[in-house]
Amino acid sequence: MQELDFKSILNAFASPILVAKPVRLGNKITDFEGLYLNDAFLKRVNYAVEGCKFFSEFKDRLSPEVEWFDVAQRAINGDQVEPFTYYSTLGQAWFRVQMHGADDLLVVSIENVTDETNHSRRLKEMSLYDILTALPNRNKFKEDFTEFTDIAQNENSMLALLLIDIDNMKMVNDSKGHQQGDRLLQQSAMLLCNFERETIHSYRYGDDEFMVVIEKADSLNTITNITDAIFESFMIEKISVSGGISVFPDNSKSSDDLLRFTDIAIHYAKKNGKNRFVYFKPDMQRVFIQKLNMQTKMTAAVLASDFYLVYQPQFVIKTNKLRGFEALIRWHDKELGNIPPSVFIPLAEETGLILPIGTWIMNTAFSTLKNWQTEYGFTGVLSINISPLQLREESFIPNLKSALERYKLPPASVEIEITEGVMINNMEDAIEKLKAVKKMGLRISLDDFGTGYSSLSYLQMLPLDTLKIDKSFINTITAKDGIQANITNSIIMMVSKMGLETIAEGVEKGNQLSLLKDFNCNIVQGFLRGKPMQESLCNAYLAGNESALISLSNETPSL
Ligand code: C2E
Ligand code: MG
Ligand code: MG
Repeated sequence: MQELDFKSILNAFASPILVAKPVRLGNKITDFEGLYLNDAFLKRVNYAVEGCKFFSEFKDRLSPEVEWFDVAQRAINGDQVEPFTYYSTLGQAWFRVQMHGADDLLVVSIENVTDETNHSRRLKEMSLYDILTALPNRNKFKEDFTEFTDIAQNENSMLALLLIDIDNMKMVNDSKGHQQGDRLLQQSAMLLCNFERETIHSYRYGDDEFMVVIEKADSLNTITNITDAIFESFMIEKISVSGGISVFPDNSKSSDDLLRFTDIAIHYAKKNGKNRFVYFKPDMQRVFIQKLNMQTKMTAAVLASDFYLVYQPQFVIKTNKLRGFEALIRWHDKELGNIPPSVFIPLAEETGLILPIGTWIMNTAFSTLKNWQTEYGFTGVLSINISPLQLREESFIPNLKSALERYKLPPASVEIEITEGVMINNMEDAIEKLKAVKKMGLRISLDDFGTGYSSLSYLQMLPLDTLKIDKSFINTITAKDGIQANITNSIIMMVSKMGLETIAEGVEKGNQLSLLKDFNCNIVQGFLRGKPMQESLCNAYLAGNESALISLSNETPSL
């Protein structure tokens, strides 16, 4: 009667349960005899054990890979037996088993955990593999890399790291859309997969970065052959990539160093025109350290306000009257001397220091402008250069507003100069912010037109007042073939029709200026008419002293 109750209780459970008792020979357990097993248990094991009474009979009908008897023996001896999971090759599923010994009875429960296990295995895989390209990711690289360097150390073999970065990926995403960007990454991953060997492994290392590890290379020649072939395969597909290569043990035996060196080498490749693979060389590190040194110095300069502004005059070509000034930053370091903005502005952008520097420029220029307005009745425009990084900041508009208010400036007396760089990354955000600037009443000019990724389509998208034609364009307008002159003429005509004002930058020669006058260019800014000058000289000029101007026609040294 009691036995029957027990069975029906067990049958009420959905989980497969088996109750067994040990069979002893003297003190030694020799087998287990099944007393009760519920329907769920029979069902679970596909009735494979139906009719069997002893473990010894049915152990091979379950899963031979599990030591059923040993585990059961430990459980019955009072050991805490942890639940364990195994894959049943017979059942083709994952099972979790719990065994518990109580009162000389053994209770075994078995659960199918296939879904759960697959899920966690998938999660684990996901954390080590990139979904988009199916390549192992940076986490997997980190795991593997320790192993690779260990092998290289122990076997005294060569190991190369090749870091690959897709050139202009941001441009692709912005101009062709993210889907096209994704496709480019997948295509690149596929190219790398073609090189996969027992000793060559590729990883998706970052957004648009891949890492290739070449193990057990017998010489530098072998490494070069492989990296050349990889580069060529990208060339064939017309994908522009830069690469940095470091080699164990030639460059270093430390894995941290090797990673850093690929970074330095790739930096070098990018700086030298992209679309190339570059081996790390020790002198690159020196340049890098110098750069670091400069970064430290620049941080100190920000704190000590070692920067100053100079102002370059702009003139209306037709009337020869002053139109305004462009504020340009200068930095003099005691050890390094004068460092040109073309060197330190990009570095300040890389490090984010451009943000505090930009705020300082804005306040200093505005305070000077206010002084000119009140002291000299200056009615012209003051332009300040704004880095794309500044415009990207949420605080940009509020900062600009409060600086204008602080110095009580008429907004139309301020012009911000932007470059096409503001369109990279988040075009919508840039346009929206510039519209807000325009709404505040400030003027906006597009600087350096004719360099970089100049595109006429930007002219329509951006709320511009002025277009500044870059010096490199002006340099060649007097060439005999007249091609550049024609292009410049057409650009000025078209831009004027759009209602924009044109400024020619870097005008150094009289014949350049007269051509620009013929083309109806509005404004000139260049050494011919005026070099950048310190505030005190500007003050003298605004007070009526014409000779305060520094230009190519007089001998005063330039700043
Ligand atoms: P930019 O904004 O296009 O500034 C014009 C540059 O051309 C200035 O060089 C100016 O001195 C130079 N220039 C003007 N006329 C002539 C000429 O006739 N001949 C020659 N050879 N050069 C001429 P600078 O001051 O060295 O500035 C270089 C670039 O650095 C600037 O180009 C701008 O992109 C950046 N920069 C300068 N000051 C600032 C600043 O305050 N903030 C930011 N974000 N960038 C700045
Ligand atoms: Mg400028
Ligand atoms: Mg410019």
